[in-house]
Amino acid sequence: MKSKLQCILCQTDLVGPRLELGKLPPCNRFAAVPEVSTPTYPLALTECSHCSLIQLFDPPPIEALIPQVPWIRYNEPDAHLEAVTSQLLPQLKAPASVFGIGPFDQPLLKKLAAQGLTCKMLDLFALEPKRAIETFPYLETLQARLHPQPMQTLATTHGKSQLLICRYLLEHCRDPLAALDSFRPLLAENGLVLIEVPDSSKFLTRKDYSFIWEEHVCYFTAESFTRLLRQAGYRLFNLMRFEGQLEDALVALVQPLPQTAAPSPMVKEKAPSLFTPYAAAFEKVRDAYQTALAAIQAQGGKIAILGAGHQALMFMHALGLQDFVSYLVDDDANKQAYFTPGAHLPIVSSEKMLADDKINTCLLAVSPRIETKIQEKCAAFLARGGKMYSIFPGSKLYQSPSPQLRYGEDRAEEDKFRCTL
Ligand SMILES: [Zn+2]
Repeated sequence: MKSKLQCILCQTDLVGPRLELGKLPPCNRFAAVPEVSTPTYPLALTECSHCSLIQLFDPPPIEALIPQVPWIRYNEPDAHLEAVTSQLLPQLKAPASVFGIGPFDQPLLKKLAAQGLTCKMLDLFALEPKRAIETFPYLETLQARLHPQPMQTLATTHGKSQLLICRYLLEHCRDPLAALDSFRPLLAENGLVLIEVPDSSKFLTRKDYSFIWEEHVCYFTAESFTRLLRQAGYRLFNLMRFEGQLEDALVALVQPLPQTAAPSPMVKEKAPSLFTPYAAAFEKVRDAYQTALAAIQAQGGKIAILGAGHQALMFMHALGLQDFVSYLVDDDANKQAYFTPGAHLPIVSSEKMLADDKINTCLLAVSPRIETKIQEKCAAFLARGGKMYSIFPGSKLYQSPSPQLRYGEDRAEEDKFRCTL
């Protein structure tokens, strides 16, 4: 790992403490057959001591993150898009043109199109050169296209819009300032940009390490998000927060200032650091999980993790729990033909887990929204005394691995860190 790197927002040397998770395989590196050795990359999180942006320290090369299977797709929340639409409509007169640029923009485009706006999805992949080896570029590749030159090419083809949408891409960007700069040629005079990112405050406060991900470079709070927007020369019209059980969504409506305007000076964050206590608690949480899972094994129990997404994998890899887990359970048929990255644990259907009466502990790594559905599906497992806990401290089904660790259960503590909009 390099010893000296610069903050991706303010370019100050990143010299602050780091949360080092060791060398981990990329979470999308599912293997059809157990590979002899899966490539691993050091993963570390840090906070810029100057501008307070929490970010990955030296993320893995982009090439290493390109999916090697065609079915890697992620879900992002969309229940709040009705509310977002009603905020946007007074700003846009039909048939104003709206551009979407990423895979999570379609649901909002659809709602705006229903209101008479002229919506178009721009294809950033059209700019991709053909590759010799068959891979399946996704967000890691899209984020790199958010650069002034390729976006200028898109503007030449598609013209300008009154509104550009960018949902759930900015946190993937290795150069978020260049990404924000790249939107300018696609905007008509007085054009707006809607940017949505996840707010990291909840998982940081709850000491939830499953939310770290080699593909998320920036870990925003409302403060660091607005600081970035200002630094990129945007005027903030409106910042909306939509509550989520595990993480909130931050939706900013911004407008570029003339490029001649000097960027506002970087001001240091006034809120207490969320990163310092998060990094400090890591070893305690890791040790508590290892002890708790070892005790289940010692009593003859077997453990499965249900939900084979990147959060399940990061939970297992970052906390060093691979040796305690028998397999992962996922009813996505695509995944059942594969082994987990690095540890090569099988991925099986929930039916298979139900038929395996040795499994007595099932750790849920799914959205709290579908936990009840999972409990219903696994009623036979619960009926025979099987225990089901969520890995997320924000879930009602969460159980702390140790009575000494109560993170995520103190809402007053969380509120202390919540910055108001
Ligand atoms: Zn910085």
